Amino acid sequence: MSRDDTQRWKEKYLANIEQQERLEQRWEARVDLMRRGLVRSSLAAEGSDKAVDQCMQELRELLRRKDIDSGLARLIPRLEKTVLDSEQRRQQRVKQNVAALTQLAQQLMSLEELPRDVRLPLKLFARDLEARASQSREIPVLLGELGNLQRRVLDQLAANTDGPRPGLLQRLFGARDEEEEAGAAPAALEASAEEPAPAAAPEVRAVQATPAAPELEHPAAAAPAPSSVLDALPLPSELIPSTSRPVVLDGEGEQRYALPPMPEPGYSAVAPHIEASLLHLLDQLQLPSSHKPQALALRGRIEGSLNWYELVPVLDDLAVLVLALNDSGQQAFEGYLHQLNERLSTFLDSLGAVRQGQDEGSASARELDAELRHQVSGLQDSVQQATDLDSLKRSVEERLEGLLGSIERHRQEREIREREAGERLQALVARVASMEEEAQTFQASIEDQRQKALTDPLTGLPNRAALSERMELEVARVQRFGGDLLLAMLDVDHFKRINDDFGHLAGDKVLKIIAGELAKRLRKTDFIARFGGEEFVVLLPSTSLDGGRQLLESLRGAVEKIPFHFKGEPLSITCSIGVTAFQGGERNDAAFERADQALYRAKRSGRNRLELG
Ligand code: GH3
Ligand code: MG
Ligand code: MG
Repeated sequence: MSRDDTQRWKEKYLANIEQQERLEQRWEARVDLMRRGLVRSSLAAEGSDKAVDQCMQELRELLRRKDIDSGLARLIPRLEKTVLDSEQRRQQRVKQNVAALTQLAQQLMSLEELPRDVRLPLKLFARDLEARASQSREIPVLLGELGNLQRRVLDQLAANTDGPRPGLLQRLFGARDEEEEAGAAPAALEASAEEPAPAAAPEVRAVQATPAAPELEHPAAAAPAPSSVLDALPLPSELIPSTSRPVVLDGEGEQRYALPPMPEPGYSAVAPHIEASLLHLLDQLQLPSSHKPQALALRGRIEGSLNWYELVPVLDDLAVLVLALNDSGQQAFEGYLHQLNERLSTFLDSLGAVRQGQDEGSASARELDAELRHQVSGLQDSVQQATDLDSLKRSVEERLEGLLGSIERHRQEREIREREAGERLQALVARVASMEEEAQTFQASIEDQRQKALTDPLTGLPNRAALSERMELEVARVQRFGGDLLLAMLDVDHFKRINDDFGHLAGDKVLKIIAGELAKRLRKTDFIARFGGEEFVVLLPSTSLDGGRQLLESLRGAVEKIPFHFKGEPLSITCSIGVTAFQGGERNDAAFERADQALYRAKRSGRNRLELG
């Protein structure tokens, strides 16, 4: 080996050593980095599983030592197994979490009263649950979201809860017991009546849809939509919709049943005015003491807890009071009778005068007769006593003049009497005619007021006041003559959803149409009234329970078949019915209570059905 070679090998060796040292330094640096990384990772991994934590603790202690190889060789297989076990346990926990959250979400989804705006987010929540719940950091977020949805559902349920159903007579006459007075008014009515919900997206519409029937569209059925409840007073033909036509709830004023969904002002906007007016009206009524408690109860209902839909029953009850009182009417009537009496006595006076005239007439005729007889006999005497012709002539002339004078005087007196009597008779005839006219106008206005007070302005059906009158009549008839009398309560199903989805005007229209459909199917002797809101009461006299059930089933079916449409989408609206037969001698409220309970059962067992009570 030459010197050069030796030198070259030496340099190569030194270079290799240098490179080796650099590699070792880098290795040391890497190992150090790894140690620190492992220590940090072990710290980060801590807290999910005790066994893994224990391994991590050991790992960190190991890493602090110089010689880690043998320790690592022992620890790593144990760590692997612990981590695997831990992962299995974690997956199990994820499954449990997913199952628990899914169950919660499903419980919410199965709620009947689930608000539409919660249904969709809840579905999405349930759909993504499994994927999201696999990451433990998502669990608090998921719980937060579910809690939020649940709160919305609970709010809605709280708003929907009517509390214990009030007694029927209470609902009929509005009397409240102390408990009710102390407690809150039914929440459901107020909550939704204050602020109508906006129209819903079609896919989450809550009202059942039936298969489309496009040929049902009928352009001939055109009428402008009513712009207010008062405008919506039913025309007779409107009350009887043809079930072969669609009943369109939205169209642009084209179809007969078209109703533009118009937002109403919140009740709170007009509440103070309405309350003040009603209270004023109530104060004006001079009620007999027997009706004072009812007025007091009504006052309680008006003060502070009214909403759009409580307003109608309140007005009905006010009408009951006005009718029962009928005092203002009665006072006017008494005034009228008083006036009539006075007129009759003047009338009698005039008749007396006519009679007196007649009497005077016959007395003066008798007088004339006597006078004439006297004159004639005087004439006879003069003729007999006459001695010469001249004196005879004179005395005959005198007597004749006397005779003619008497006759003339009598004629004039008679003329005067007859004229007076004629005038009096004419005055009497005129007076009788005007009295007749007044009596007729009075009667007509009483009847008109009565009819108005007994009619529900929205549906044109008899109202509660009319119902209680008719019930009294029917019950009295049954008690007197026996026979059957059925009482049915009918309530539109999920009516609140109709208001929520399509607006209150559409809801009003639905009520009018259903009322017309029901009324047209009843017999002449049957009676139907709007009891309030979306509830109707039907009285079926002389009807067996079996016959009544058939009739009411046909009503239920007819309502179900009314071809309501909204934006071209057919809707089926249904109702539930509770019916009972009056038992001999029982009070009205007992039968009412049974029918109401039966209705309640019909609702609870799925709606769109009839239950006997
Ligand atoms: P259910 O099947 O249990 O009877 O449910 P529902 O929604 O029909 O019953 P609920 O008593 O909860 O709601 C009735 C709703 O009817 C409350 C009120 O907003 C509405 N309503 C009452 N009167 C009228 C009215 O004259 N016009 C309109 N548009 N809505 C009314
Ligand atoms: Mg109801
Ligand atoms: Mg209802």
